[in-house]
Amino acid sequence: GPSADAYRRQNEITVIGDNVPPPFTSFESTGFPPEVLRVVRGAGFKAPTPIQAQSWPIALRSHDIVAVAKTGSGKTLGYLLPGFMHIKRTGKNPKMGPTVLVLSPTRELATQIQDEAEKFGQSSKISCTCLYGGAQKGPQIRDLEQGVHIVVATPGRLNDIMEMGKISLNQVSYLVLDEADRMLDMGFEPQIRKILKEIPTRRQTLMYTATWPKGVRNIASEFLNKPVQVNIGRTDQ
Ligand code: ADP
Ligand code: MG
Repeated sequence: GPSADAYRRQNEITVIGDNVPPPFTSFESTGFPPEVLRVVRGAGFKAPTPIQAQSWPIALRSHDIVAVAKTGSGKTLGYLLPGFMHIKRTGKNPKMGPTVLVLSPTRELATQIQDEAEKFGQSSKISCTCLYGGAQKGPQIRDLEQGVHIVVATPGRLNDIMEMGKISLNQVSYLVLDEADRMLDMGFEPQIRKILKEIPTRRQTLMYTATWPKGVRNIASEFLNKPVQVNIGRTDQ
């Protein structure tokens, strides 16, 4: 409608896809549970960022998404909050393996995502752990054995733990490739491909990237199912 178009124009949002739902311009319109909205307000957030406003309604309809938006635009909650809703809706036992998997290029980014998941998910009893290199595997494996809803991982360490037979990805039904361009630049494509082979194809896949080069486009067309693309600001294509 006209108000969706005006909001998109003001916020430099372009969408590519059929029947893209209008953006959520306020937190009230999201339908996120009160305990989550309380934490959002407590953090001092006044309104969704443009990437959140446009990607939340798409993600909540269980569509695949490609989001092209620069650093600092609020992408983490863009995928985490619909991920919480997905976890509640599917209601799987975390002892059987994680429902949500987030792949991230570095230890620093992965731990930031875990912090955000814990801060915003604790009130909804969402559990999360983080797998990254340069640290002992034992404690990471013990956390997995406790059972968690969300695993945030760098591709290298996740591959190592898969090869040890210490994680099962067959319950994953919400997959996030965060900073996909950076993961490819860092040479993680072979590990990403091995991980994707272990995840059921009946899933929702969300890909976030700051740039949209050929390598990222290829991964998107191979592993996402009719994604809606959301671009924020001017992108390089
Ligand atoms: P990106 O992944 O796009 O680089 P982040 O998800 O790390 O961005 O978010 C950047 C910062 O903005 C974080 O400190 C985050 O807590 C904050 N933030 C997220 N959503 C909002 C919002 N709706 N309003 C204000 N700040 C927000
Ligand atoms: Mg990010």
